[in-house]
Amino acid sequence: MPDNLPEAVVAVMRQAEDFVDKVIRPLGPEGSDEGNSEEGEDAINTVREASREAGFFYKTQPAEFGGTPASTLELTVLRELFSSTNLPLTRYIFGPGPGVLHAVQGDLKSGYLEPVLRGEKKGAFAFTEPDSAPRATWGVVTGDTLVINGQKSYVTGGGSADFISALVNVEQPDGAKAGTAMVVIDRQAEGVAIDRRFTSLDGSSHVSMTFDNVTVPISNVIGELGEGMPRALANIGNVRLMVSAQASGMCLFVLDYIEKHIKSPHRSGIPLADKEGVRLRFADMRIETFVARSALYRTARIVDSGENSVNETAMTKVFTTETAGRVVDQGLQLFGGQALVTGHPLEKLYREARSLRFVEGASDLLRINVAKGKLELDKGRL
Ligand SMILES: Cc1cc2nc3c(=O)[nH]c(=O)nc-3n(C[C@H](O)[C@H](O)[C@H](O)COP(=O)(O)OP(=O)(O)OC[C@H]3O[C@@H](n4cnc5c(N)ncnc54)[C@H](O)[C@@H]3O)c2cc1C
Repeated sequence: MPDNLPEAVVAVMRQAEDFVDKVIRPLGPEGSDEGNSEEGEDAINTVREASREAGFFYKTQPAEFGGTPASTLELTVLRELFSSTNLPLTRYIFGPGPGVLHAVQGDLKSGYLEPVLRGEKKGAFAFTEPDSAPRATWGVVTGDTLVINGQKSYVTGGGSADFISALVNVEQPDGAKAGTAMVVIDRQAEGVAIDRRFTSLDGSSHVSMTFDNVTVPISNVIGELGEGMPRALANIGNVRLMVSAQASGMCLFVLDYIEKHIKSPHRSGIPLADKEGVRLRFADMRIETFVARSALYRTARIVDSGENSVNETAMTKVFTTETAGRVVDQGLQLFGGQALVTGHPLEKLYREARSLRFVEGASDLLRINVAKGKLELDKGRL
């Protein structure tokens, strides 16, 4: 358990362990098909209902919508714990958060934010563009509408989303640049086309999509014209810390799994744990996990203090996800060839850990941001 947690957080952690044992484990590992079957959908609904009753569902939701938002430290503890179970259904314990819609008013609030928080509508985030695009997605202000054209290449959940929050470069009718904007676009709006559906190696589903003269009311702009980038990145620190907690939880799962394996009988007659070379490898996995968790919890506390944490969340995201990559890889090595068999828990984790090094900021780009933070802005702690 992370050191020196407030008593209240320890109590919630115990409640969460109990929730996993009583609600999630009895549903079995099959929740992994993410609602692609009726059985999967039933399991997800069971988790959501039980989570509402236990109060976990509301911990990621704003108070003005009936939520009981938890501190970053508490959410970090819970996310790490859920990830360390390696049970996919734990992903459905927390209710949907507001994401980029967090401060919207009027039609965006009643038509999108509120249904999202109730779990009635789903959004997807469209930022990444294909290298082949002749120009970045753009929208022209036309009266009280915005006419959007362009392409997005990697929209997670875009196939089943009700709407897309897309980053758009806005122009006035005379061609003057009005900066970027995050714009809510209905998936079924005329001119929105899905070009390709694909699955990445971690098992998640995505689409690439085209906007061909898609017309949306100007009121679908989140915030003001010109605020697109800051809006898109507003919550990124919290999301990066969420990914970090997931990565750290993966390391905990692997260490526990491998410890049991190396202590059990081996065909050589000597358990692997008695071999010094294995111990060295195992120790490295523990050392790296200890350091990653230390960064994770320190950063969660910095975020809760309200101080600037942009550099710290970026550093933590790089370190924890890269650590998870190494720890899973080493775990797989120690387990042996069976760990490569499709469906083995370590095989699955290997794929999932790899994608964490891309999502919400690829490691190299975050490294560049961290260097820029220090060299150009004199920001960032050590
Ligand atoms: C599982 C998964 C889910 C995703 N979901 C979404 C989503 O929902 N919405 C969305 O918009 N996108 C999504 N993405 C896309 C993701 O955000 C991008 O893959 C990521 O930002 C990297 O961009 P890119 O793939 O275009 O690679 P590029 O930007 O082309 O970078 C490729 C590599 O080139 C190097 N590189 C690039 N720029 C520099 C530089 N300036 N200096 C030095 N090296 C550099 C780095 O090594 C980098 O990893 C998802 C990706 C994955 C894997």
